[in-house]
Amino acid sequence: MKTVAHYLHELAALEPDAPLLMHAVEDVVRSVEPTLHEQRRWQELKIFERLCEPDRQIVFRVDWIDDDGALHVERGFRIQQSNLLGPYKGGIRFHPSVDRVTLRFLAFEQSFKNALTGLPLGGGKGGATFDPDGRSEGEVMRFCQAFMRELGRHIGPDVDVPAGDMGVGGREIGFLLGAYRRLGYPGAGALTGKPVEAGGIPLRTEATGYGLVYLVEEALRTHDAALEGMRCAISGAGNVSLHAAEKLIASGARVVSLSDTSGTGHFPEGLDEEGLARIASVKRGGGSLRDCLEEAGGKSVASSPWQLDCDVALPCATQHELEREDAEALVRGKVRLVAEGANMPCTPDASRLLRESNVIFLPGKAANAGGVAVSGMEMAQNAQRVPWDRERVDAMLRETMTSIHAQCVEHGTHGTRIDYVDGANIAAFRRLARSMEAQGVG
Ligand code: GLU
Repeated sequence: MKTVAHYLHELAALEPDAPLLMHAVEDVVRSVEPTLHEQRRWQELKIFERLCEPDRQIVFRVDWIDDDGALHVERGFRIQQSNLLGPYKGGIRFHPSVDRVTLRFLAFEQSFKNALTGLPLGGGKGGATFDPDGRSEGEVMRFCQAFMRELGRHIGPDVDVPAGDMGVGGREIGFLLGAYRRLGYPGAGALTGKPVEAGGIPLRTEATGYGLVYLVEEALRTHDAALEGMRCAISGAGNVSLHAAEKLIASGARVVSLSDTSGTGHFPEGLDEEGLARIASVKRGGGSLRDCLEEAGGKSVASSPWQLDCDVALPCATQHELEREDAEALVRGKVRLVAEGANMPCTPDASRLLRESNVIFLPGKAANAGGVAVSGMEMAQNAQRVPWDRERVDAMLRETMTSIHAQCVEHGTHGTRIDYVDGANIAAFRRLARSMEAQGVG
């Protein structure tokens, strides 16, 4: 059987400059190596190699005109990773850092995350180099229309169903949907994360942040602990961070930090509901955390959130934001639990240290799966043509996160310790591998 080193060597030859993709693949292959050893058939069928290689990588040009009449040329992408379990499914990211290999890493992670939800969802990811920061609403709309003119031919309710990600929220999904329909394609089921008025489902906006807290609660309960009174450090001040903060406050936890590009905000006494509402409204209006920190009862600090004393750490900003020295500070400060609200925010060194230090470490593919799970419910709602209510969605979200936790425990328990990385990787891999085996070769 091929060793981990062999897999990584082959991948490095194909994608020479892809540290995030290497991290994601290494993480999975290390966890599933023993499973592959047992299942000779899965080795013969080259299940791992076939899961690593996307079905299709689409790259296209997007031209658009800004408010001053200047023409811009951007690059658009859609990585269709795997449709073994259902239509390709995953977000669209608008950010200048977007490139094909970053999206390949995200699409790989997404296929495993989606498998964990237990829903019929394949995996994919897309995006564009467009930077929405500082752009007018008209510019964002025109870019969405131009992007959809090319993407439209590749998606559909039973083919590929994009949603939001960084830089793409309900407003952008609404513009993308409008463009899709005007191009003559049928059905609102080709996108999720739609505004409720345009066929969306309640709670989709809150789902990733709420789901994250539900999984944290479940993991703490299993370790005879509870959120009440715990100091929780959060990074980011976007959709995931703010909704996680809201749920944490409601659960009696103390939110001690948020952050954005303007720096880290520290709330020594814990952020309260009014402070959070103030920050949410400033951020929605395009402002920065620094502009509203004092009003929200916080102060600006020079360090990262991970240097602050906390019991729970939730990196929710972006990939590889939490580095080894941050992990060391967290371990020194006796953090109990770290859960990844973003996709792979911990570097390989940081996650290794946290896992080896007996910190409860919940990897992104389990911890932030709530968003895509509610997207799966939105697809069901659109196909049924019957609206779902908030209570039903919330109950199913909780059930999904509880089931993800149970899968991690089933596959990640080593003696008295639960390794959630192994648990999530093995559970998702087994579901994908069984499906691949059942569908033959080709
Ligand atoms: N972008 C989100 C994620 O990383 C949501 C994807 C979706 O709903 O399709 O999971």
